Amino acid sequence: MAGTGAVRRADPGATVWLTGLPSAGKTTIARALAGRLRAEGRRAELLDGDEIRTFLSAGLGFSRKDRDINVQRIGFVAQLLASHGVLTLVPVIAPYADSREAVRARHRLEGTAYVEVHVATPVEVCSVRDVKGLYARQAAGAISGLTGVDDPYEAPVAPDLRIGTQDRTVPECVAAVHTLLTERGLL
Ligand code: ADP
Repeated sequence: MAGTGAVRRADPGATVWLTGLPSAGKTTIARALAGRLRAEGRRAELLDGDEIRTFLSAGLGFSRKDRDINVQRIGFVAQLLASHGVLTLVPVIAPYADSREAVRARHRLEGTAYVEVHVATPVEVCSVRDVKGLYARQAAGAISGLTGVDDPYEAPVAPDLRIGTQDRTVPECVAAVHTLLTERGLL
C-alpha cells in the first residue's frame, strides 16, 4: 500500500581527497578504489586533476593563487556530487593547507562528509617513479615550480589517513582507505 513502505535510506556520499606529491600514487589508488566501490554497487566518481585543468580550470596556471582557485573549484564540484550520494574521489595535489582547509570547511557547512588522505610517498621515491616525466624535466631546467621540489608542498598535519606507498601494494593502500570509509559509516 502506498505510503506504508520504509523510506529508502539514501547512500551517504563523501568527498575523499587524496593529497600528495606528483607520482605519489594518488591517481592509482583512486582509480582502484573507484573500481572496487562500483563493484560493490556504490556510485563513485573520480575528478581527475588533468581533466579538470583541461575543462573546468582551463587557463589557470600554477601560481599559489591559481592553484587555490583550482582546488576551490574542484572542492565545489566534489561537494555537490557527494551531497547526492556519490563517493567522489579527488586525486589532486592541493599543496596548500589553507586551500584544503577551505574545502573541508565548505563540506562541513553543507553537512557533507569529507575525508583527507595524505598519500605520503617521499619525494625520493616519487622522483624515481616520475610517471609524467615532471621530475626529469624540472631537473633539466625545462620546467620550474614543481610541487615538492621547487614549489611548496604543505603536508597535512592531521589527515584522516596517511599512507606511504613505497612499502605497500596498491590493493593494500586501497584497503586502508576502504576501511576508513567503513569506519566512518560511509560504506
Ligand atoms: P599521482 O596521481 O600521485 O601523481 P600516480 O598514481 O599517477 O601518481 O603514479 C603512481 C605510480 O606509483 C604508478 O606508476 C603506480 O603504479 C606506482 N605505485 C607503486 N606502488 C604503489 C602503491 N602502493 N600505491 C599507488 N601507486 C603505486
